[in-house]
Amino acid sequence: MRGSEPFLHVAEHARDHTVGGHCRGGRTGNRGAELCQLANGDEHGSLQHGGLHDGWVRVRLNERDVNTPGARGGDRERSAVTVQELRDAIQRVTGVDVAITEIQEARRFRDNSRQAATYRKGQVLLAGDAAHVHSPLGGQGLNLGIMDAVNLGWKLAAVLRGFGHDQLLDSYTRERHPVGAAVLNNTRAQAALLAPTPQVKALREIMSDLMDIPDVKEYFGRMLSGVGVRYPMPYDAGTDHDLLGGHVPDFVVDDTTLYAIMSDGRPVLLHTPRAGEIREAAESWRDRVHIVPALVLGRPDLSAALIRPDGVLAWAATSFTSPNITCLKTALHTWFGPPRPAADDDA
Ligand SMILES: Cc1cc2nc3c(=O)[nH]c(=O)nc-3n(C[C@H](O)[C@H](O)[C@H](O)COP(=O)(O)OP(=O)(O)OC[C@H]3O[C@@H](n4cnc5c(N)ncnc54)[C@H](O)[C@@H]3O)c2cc1C
Repeated sequence: MRGSEPFLHVAEHARDHTVGGHCRGGRTGNRGAELCQLANGDEHGSLQHGGLHDGWVRVRLNERDVNTPGARGGDRERSAVTVQELRDAIQRVTGVDVAITEIQEARRFRDNSRQAATYRKGQVLLAGDAAHVHSPLGGQGLNLGIMDAVNLGWKLAAVLRGFGHDQLLDSYTRERHPVGAAVLNNTRAQAALLAPTPQVKALREIMSDLMDIPDVKEYFGRMLSGVGVRYPMPYDAGTDHDLLGGHVPDFVVDDTTLYAIMSDGRPVLLHTPRAGEIREAAESWRDRVHIVPALVLGRPDLSAALIRPDGVLAWAATSFTSPNITCLKTALHTWFGPPRPAADDDA
């Protein structure tokens, strides 16, 4: 992972390339204020700024012309952004020549959108930016890569421990590829909204109004945070619980919490006395699955739940219906391998 980059601040050469950073203008820093007052671009691109902080201004500059110096690959793109480059770019976009005396950690990047066709080929598995790259808009890259690793990690461990199989590893691409594609999609939409045309400016204003509507705000919040992700379970889970295939938020389990129980990395099968037959049904997976009887579940809508090591709800019984034991066994088999042979019980 890249380390945190407190002073990095982008400048996008629009369409394809961005340059920018924290910069300080003029000997006294007053030029920074001048930067803040620049118009927000025209047909050549746009300039965004993060205001003044101790004389530093955070600048982000999108240029539309992909032939802009520095926009193409090669050594130049890998070299450090210079004061002159940033100054020239600001002048091209705004028409104003701003003196810049110092830059902190500036960088240029493109709004690339690329995704590997599959995240697994035999023993080669891709995760994070190796599997997908996209514009940093919305700050989703780290989260996306970490969730890839969380999805893949326990599956690899299962294979190494001898109860995982090829289909389990293939489920990694099946589950994570659409999530990556959705992020590419929303970052493309965000990049499109930066275009400095009157039409897109109008669209930005409408989007901004829409964002005042709580349901719309929640929609975007779920989209950008990834909490709205639901993996389709490859079997009939016997319930249409709205968390099925999604990451379960923490909740109370008797005098502890779900996340505390999950901290050893094992899958968890919770059940209340109302769903007592579950323990017997899952007995043959007891060596791999932590079966936890509980009197009190902080989710009153659940009487039992099977939660994968990555926190995904793989099966559930609600308080209103009897648990579907056949579906539970299918879920256990799908994720945690075949039941332990009866002979093992005697060993
Ligand atoms: C300007 C910018 C701003 C961003 N802002 C945000 C943000 O606000 N929020 C967010 O969530 N994401 C942001 N991102 C995206 C985020 O940085 C990436 O998605 C994330 O760093 C990807 O992590 P990774 O571990 O997959 O890859 P990387 O961070 O690229 O790590 C890969 C590592 O592998 C090393 N490596 C490469 N080849 C080899 C080799 N052959 N042998 C050994 N090591 C090798 C590299 O040196 C690197 O250290 C931003 C990206 C950019 C460019």
